Amino acid sequence: HALINHIAFLSLGLCLSGCRSLTQLAELPEMHQMLRQTCRDYADRELTPIAAKLDKEHSFPAKQIQELGAMGVLAMEVPDGLGGAGMDYLAYSLAVEEISRGCASTGVVVSVNNSLYIGPILKFGTEEQKKQWITPFTTGEKVGCFALSEPGNGSDAGAASTIARQEGDEWVLNGTKAWITNSWDASATVVFATTDKSLKHKGISAFLIPMPYPGLSLGKKEDKLGIRASSTANIILEDCRIPLGNMLGPRGAGFKIAMQTLDSGRIGIAAQALGIAQAALDCAADYAHKRTAFGAPIGKMQAIQFKLADMALAIESARLLTWKAAILRDAKKPFTKEAAMAKLAASEAATYCSHQSIQILGGMGYVTDMPAERHYRDARITEIYEGTSEIQRLVIANQILKEYQP
Ligand SMILES: Cc1cc2nc3c(=O)[nH]c(=O)nc-3n(C[C@H](O)[C@H](O)[C@H](O)COP(=O)(O)OP(=O)(O)OC[C@H]3O[C@@H](n4cnc5c(N)ncnc54)[C@H](O)[C@@H]3O)c2cc1C
Repeated sequence: HALINHIAFLSLGLCLSGCRSLTQLAELPEMHQMLRQTCRDYADRELTPIAAKLDKEHSFPAKQIQELGAMGVLAMEVPDGLGGAGMDYLAYSLAVEEISRGCASTGVVVSVNNSLYIGPILKFGTEEQKKQWITPFTTGEKVGCFALSEPGNGSDAGAASTIARQEGDEWVLNGTKAWITNSWDASATVVFATTDKSLKHKGISAFLIPMPYPGLSLGKKEDKLGIRASSTANIILEDCRIPLGNMLGPRGAGFKIAMQTLDSGRIGIAAQALGIAQAALDCAADYAHKRTAFGAPIGKMQAIQFKLADMALAIESARLLTWKAAILRDAKKPFTKEAAMAKLAASEAATYCSHQSIQILGGMGYVTDMPAERHYRDARITEIYEGTSEIQRLVIANQILKEYQP
């Protein structure tokens, strides 16, 4: 309860703190620092000690998600009136980083609920849809998911082959969505399906479906390399009938909704990657003090020092990019390029740092007694989902070419 009061106080402060300039990046506003510390304390106390067990047993952190929900972390940007914390995206990115530093699986559950499920409903939903589909998902008792990818198309999201046809006062959906995070634990999903194939990506629309629901079934839980405490599975739609009112946004706006959602979502994944990278550095720096070789702590060796320096550099640069993207978004300025840069830099930092962390730990880096191997496994996905590193480079290049348009 102390935590809840603390966060409620913080959210008021955050609303009052107003806009920030990019020059303030070097130091976070006081309210954000407090929020960051609160999430860090929670992760140290409740997540870090159980992360290895959750990973090993593939178990969804239901209790922790409810506690984070009570803290406001499952609906950071949702206004108070709808049951959320009423905070900004910078606060959200700080929370996701700290949570992921403790447990990357919990980090992605939080990120998907905030950015991918609630995000598009908050932006494109009617007031009625917001009440129905957001408020019950703010407390951590229910989580949502986002179903865009399909077995035949991931990066090429505009090629969606799931169909929605209108029959009387219902939409009837048929098709398979692939790789859906949270699917086994979710109580609703945003689904993308084409209402007019001839219009290609402009024929895609977004829909809201409760889970479980007739005509909607789940595939097997994927046995993943990392983020093993979060569930990933196909969502199979077979004559799944939903009311016409379950369309989110205008007909044919689905691709735009998906792309805008992913722009924001990438800030969340950048934050998740930062948390993993930071945890890998924490582990390596601590070990460098404690492990001796050739009569001295390995941290005295320049080869180890250079690794630690390069890890810290990669993390800090990616963190500033992530904050910049979040601050631009909060200021309602364009942030597509910055979000892609943040996600690319942070996910590559996570891969690099977790690789180096294992190297610094030597043999101990390779076994599950230490967390380094889990960070290595968890890091890898951040370069794949919500747009691969190749797709981030395409997004960045497209934006640059637009800026330089003769
Ligand atoms: C654990 C996990 C969780 C996920 N969660 C979700 C979720 O919740 N919701 C959801 O909708 N999806 C989810 N995904 C799907 C994820 O977003 C896709 O896997 C990702 O976008 C890549 O798509 P793909 O796997 O089809 O790879 P492909 O698109 O087939 O790409 C294969 C390779 O080709 C490269 N490539 C493709 N196109 C280009 C191009 N134009 N230029 C250069 N290189 C290119 C890619 O970068 C990649 O290296 C998840 C995936 C995983 C593994």
